[in-house]
Amino acid sequence: MGDLTVLEHPLARDLLSRLRDERTDAAQFRVLTRRLGWLLVLEATKDLATERLTVQTPMEPAPAERLSEHLVAVPVLRAGLGLLDAVTDLYPGTVVGYLGMERDEVTLQPRDYYAKLPPMEGRRALILDPMLATGGSGAASVTHVKATASPKSIGFVCVVAAPEGIARMASEHPDVPIVAGALDRELNDVGFILPGLGDFGDRLHGTE
Ligand code: URA
Repeated sequence: MGDLTVLEHPLARDLLSRLRDERTDAAQFRVLTRRLGWLLVLEATKDLATERLTVQTPMEPAPAERLSEHLVAVPVLRAGLGLLDAVTDLYPGTVVGYLGMERDEVTLQPRDYYAKLPPMEGRRALILDPMLATGGSGAASVTHVKATASPKSIGFVCVVAAPEGIARMASEHPDVPIVAGALDRELNDVGFILPGLGDFGDRLHGTE
């Protein structure tokens, strides 16, 4: 099933359960997404590179570390915006690029309608796309980043994944690890995840 890590933490399950609940309004949904985002981003960055140094404590010199690998966050518009604050909360030195993906009405394939990506050399690109459903926009986002920037590494962060999306990512981008809050059962016939949580962008932005 590719390089997939599903969060195994009671707090993650609690937060995700409340996101799924149809009674959760947009204001709560944003807060819950940000909090779950912290856990997802921590997991997706647990192998960031550090360098060793020495700091002087009030007592004596102590061996220390500081991050030597920094992030570029790439929220996929518009749902991915919900996870952006979690990245910048934890890593204030993050630079941010944006990708807008939509389905082409004729070809039915995902295409980018907006892209503003910064230089990525030496950094890890964290692509933020909360619902990994068919994997079409997820895989296209990674393809776009690989084609236009040169990050040191790429990670993919989602809230809920479907088996179909994981399979597509594994086939097109086996080098990209995925961190998810849950792996759900399946897609319905219009590409929504079951049991899922509905339309993430609508619920986040209050546009239902
Ligand atoms: N996008 C969503 O917002 N929800 C789904 O279930 C699938 C794709």
